Amino acid sequence: MRVLVVVALAGVFAVAAHATARPVNAQDRALLARPATAEEKIAEHVAERLTHHASVSVRCGPLAEPNNVLGLTPTQSGHPLDYFLLRPEECTYLAWFHETPARWDPRTCARADCAYVAAMTWALQTVAHESYHVLGYANEAQVDCYGMQSIWFVANSLGASLAEAQEYASFYATRLYPQRQFSTPEYWSPECRDGGRYDLRPASHAWPS
Ligand SMILES: [Zn+2]
Repeated sequence: MRVLVVVALAGVFAVAAHATARPVNAQDRALLARPATAEEKIAEHVAERLTHHASVSVRCGPLAEPNNVLGLTPTQSGHPLDYFLLRPEECTYLAWFHETPARWDPRTCARADCAYVAAMTWALQTVAHESYHVLGYANEAQVDCYGMQSIWFVANSLGASLAEAQEYASFYATRLYPQRQFSTPEYWSPECRDGGRYDLRPASHAWPS
């Protein structure tokens, strides 16, 4: 249960590779034993609102995974626990985002900041994606699609206006998600569309928010 991507800066949106579930290990337990940092608390707050679980723990730390793994939700006996892990970089991006959400708006970003729009969007999507694993979903295509439809919620929870939050969701849907069909096909589905099987709001034709 991992989000696998190559963090893409400066307009390179390549993604890479495989999916596996990983049981909880001693390193996770050590991470969980320490108090959450301010950045981790930001992610926890959003994950709790998204999952409606009373307490979700998020820790950022080395994942002992390939560099393209941004987050993962450990399992115990095949079931998720109420926590997930993020690469340290994702915590940094979430903190930057929280500080000034409008700075990364794909419509209005300054040239130097635009280079980070993809990284910011991946960080938002990673929180949403792992939150659906915490809810018990294991099918990566379904999880990634549900996550995409919740990017607006994560961005909005971190301080972006609704209109701006929807821009990040659209950016993921139009710029990043299509790459998955070829690079991480197990994370992609033709049913992830307005009116498709994974549409969380079939009555609405707004997509993906
Ligand atoms: Zn996953």
